[in-house]
Amino acid sequence: MKRSILLFLLSLFLLIVFPSEGKASAVQSKIILDGKEISMPANVQVTIVNKNVMIPIRVVVENLKFKVEWDQKSQGVKIQQDSKIISLTVNQQEAIVAGKQVLLNVAPQVQNETVVVPIRFISEQMGLIVSWDNVDKTVYLTSSNKESIQDGQVGTESPTTEDTSKPGGNPVVGADESAKSLKHVNGMNFANNQLVVSLDGEVTPTISTLKNPDRIVLDLPNTNFADSFGSSQPLDTGLKGKLDVSGYSNVSEVRYSLFTRDPYQVRIVIALNNANAFQLNHDLDSNLVVINLNDTEDSAISVPTVANSGLKVVVIDPGHGGSDPGTLSITNKHEKDFNLSLSLKVQTLLLKEPNIEVVMTRDSDVYPTRSERVQLANQLNADVFVSIHGNSVLESPQSNGTETYYYQRSSSKDLANVIHKYLVKAIGFSDRGVKNGSLQVIRETKMPAVLLEVGFLSNSAEEKLMLSDDVQNKAAQAIVDGIKEYMGVK
Ligand SMILES: [Zn+2]
Repeated sequence: MKRSILLFLLSLFLLIVFPSEGKASAVQSKIILDGKEISMPANVQVTIVNKNVMIPIRVVVENLKFKVEWDQKSQGVKIQQDSKIISLTVNQQEAIVAGKQVLLNVAPQVQNETVVVPIRFISEQMGLIVSWDNVDKTVYLTSSNKESIQDGQVGTESPTTEDTSKPGGNPVVGADESAKSLKHVNGMNFANNQLVVSLDGEVTPTISTLKNPDRIVLDLPNTNFADSFGSSQPLDTGLKGKLDVSGYSNVSEVRYSLFTRDPYQVRIVIALNNANAFQLNHDLDSNLVVINLNDTEDSAISVPTVANSGLKVVVIDPGHGGSDPGTLSITNKHEKDFNLSLSLKVQTLLLKEPNIEVVMTRDSDVYPTRSERVQLANQLNADVFVSIHGNSVLESPQSNGTETYYYQRSSSKDLANVIHKYLVKAIGFSDRGVKNGSLQVIRETKMPAVLLEVGFLSNSAEEKLMLSDDVQNKAAQAIVDGIKEYMGVK
């Protein structure tokens, strides 16, 4: 083992320094492994590449005493941990872990003669718990064979029922299996008397209530915090934190923690001053879990009364909003703002139509849940439902074009085809086609319903156009033309 580490080290000095892809910014930082600071070789730094915290793999594996081999010719790194083999290649996003392909957020890179990999990869594939303290610029690593964090101790300030009870019903899955299906909490906030948790995949939450004091306990099985979580919310080295709930008279605290790590489970506790009715909304499309403490009568949406005068009712749904920003554009603009801006232009045009009554699911920066949007359209018995979104795949900035979704119903497919035709023609983005997709707002609505992905906010050319009034006006007119043609409205 020592020999191969030595070889690895030697070969690293022979490496040619590659010009790094993407924007890498070095940060003055430390790596703490199992409570001890790892001494970093000169010239080696923690860097951030496209929002991913990158750490030098060599520093970590050496300290964990894994076997490492470096192949200069193929630019490949092979890491062996017992019988598990991890193969990485510089500048390639695909890695092979125990014979299976795994996609990294960012390709390993060579920086200052050492290979750096995204921290999330390290945590999931090497059995480490990782947290990134954005304030101290410190990476905290806990190896799984250390007992420094124990079940039931994580996230407790004082032992209370919910903190000491073991979660039930979570089958323990093998390391590879759990790494594959492990989901992450990207962010969390408490606003409008709602807790909104955003995840990077589908998680089935369990919820329970406890008395004395009154608490709502939300468990997210097979879930850990994303490595970027700590940059937007407080997350201490024990992987716990609290949200700001000042201004909410009935909520004394919202705290969260990595409650167990075998299997991984995040627990969020809403401590109440008095028992409060609540609604759990689980939004599979956007991977949001929302606990609404408002009176259910008092939801973000109130169903307007529509004059029953034979007018066609069109519901326009600007995607996301409020606590749910949607995706991020290449220049860090929120999708929700694009959606609202374009949707308001559609509204303005539809208001001029004498035979159409337009209803918005939101006309400001608020977050009605997907269920509430569906409910609104169904209760109105709307004639068509159009949800407006912008696409974004930051990992692939070349992706571009317009796509339109319907779900199964042929009426929805017809509506999709006609709006798509006008939209592609009007804004001239490449035609990605009309697609069947199981998205809640178009699946659970009962009328012809479509979801438009107008273009890619992650593509710099399309972002610029999509954020311009000119292209938004063209897109709005195209959407209105499509709606009118579909409904046969003159
Ligand atoms: Zn969206």
